[in-house]
Amino acid sequence: MELEQIRLLDEQYYMNTFGKRLNVAFDRGEGIRLYSTEGEQYYDFLGGIAVNALGHSHPKFVNRLKEQLDKLLHTSSLYYIENQAKLAQKLCENSCADKAFFCSTGAEANEGAIKLAKIYFYKKGKENYEIISLDKSFHGRTLATVAATGQEKYQKPYRPLTPGFIQVEPDNIDAVYNAVTDKTAAIMIELIQGESGVYPMSVEYVKKLRELCDEKGIILIFDEVQTGMGRTGEYFAHQYYGVEPDIFTSAKALGGGIPIGAIGAKDFVAQAFEPGDHGTTFGGNPFATAAGLGVFEIYEEEKILENVKVMSAYFMSELEKIKEKHTDKIVELRNAGLLIGIELKGEYARDTFNKMFEKKYLTSLCKNTLRIAPPLIITKQDIDGFINVLDEIL
Ligand SMILES: *Cc1c(COP(=O)(O)O)cnc(C)c1O
Repeated sequence: MELEQIRLLDEQYYMNTFGKRLNVAFDRGEGIRLYSTEGEQYYDFLGGIAVNALGHSHPKFVNRLKEQLDKLLHTSSLYYIENQAKLAQKLCENSCADKAFFCSTGAEANEGAIKLAKIYFYKKGKENYEIISLDKSFHGRTLATVAATGQEKYQKPYRPLTPGFIQVEPDNIDAVYNAVTDKTAAIMIELIQGESGVYPMSVEYVKKLRELCDEKGIILIFDEVQTGMGRTGEYFAHQYYGVEPDIFTSAKALGGGIPIGAIGAKDFVAQAFEPGDHGTTFGGNPFATAAGLGVFEIYEEEKILENVKVMSAYFMSELEKIKEKHTDKIVELRNAGLLIGIELKGEYARDTFNKMFEKKYLTSLCKNTLRIAPPLIITKQDIDGFINVLDEIL
């Protein structure tokens, strides 16, 4: 189908939640390259918003999915599921979690994490239900996660919001101290705020949050939907920070493009979920968990985390040079591994983003920040290509 036909069909039949999309549709991908319906080649430096960690059509990954397709897609959580059990083991062995639970999206994982924190207190006969999260955060689009998301634009149309959620200034420990009450159940944060433009929390702050939670018996939740699965060069950003949460969530890259979300939790809190307390139809089905297992296997075989460390260091050093050269246009560089924000002066941001797109480089624009979250298989050559184009545009 031609792009124009797709656009018209979309306008007629699809709910207009995405507004005017970028004028392209892709029908094929290979590595970090995407090919449009018009036959043009693009370089994917956004990776489907931190989803396509293995790039597009990774041959081993595709084979792993095909093998599972031929065997079994879905059964039910009424039965034991080998892939689900194995993926839970992988997730726990590669994070601070003792137990895992699978669902289908990031928002659903966060919902589950919030429920787990609340039920933990409920089972102790305590009335702790308040969840403290941060301004400029993003936790998803469901009603509870919208209440946790500290951005007016996402909350406004849905008031009254789910009660019990409050937001405080990020990276400010006093703000959290002041917000804690005898009703607080959990503090929920992104270690690196992705959607609002790549803002890493300081290690000092995160350590103090851990101390605060220990001192007051509050549950610490890290939303690692975007920062998890290798993005920072460690499997999870809590390892990158060296601070363990009681609960964390993951999704985006976990299935390499197949929808899957996860909750990881320490035993003491995971035990609060007893039979019937939480559930899902699709979550952790044989196909989705085969995808998760495939992702883990390929990370190990291809030393993906090592690549993230080497490539992120290279990318940042090249970006520093660009920043030196264009101090009049670049305000700041922020990153954690291959989650990179290039903050531009207001008048250049939209224009730079558009010109990168015209040059076939896919990024995303968060206010004045270009967000880069490329597939983790990226090479120096790919980065050089990006740097040259950015330099030329600036
Ligand atoms: C993307 C994202 C979510 C929401 O994930 P969905 O799969 O879209 O529901 C939640 N939290 C963070 C930090 C995210 O980046």
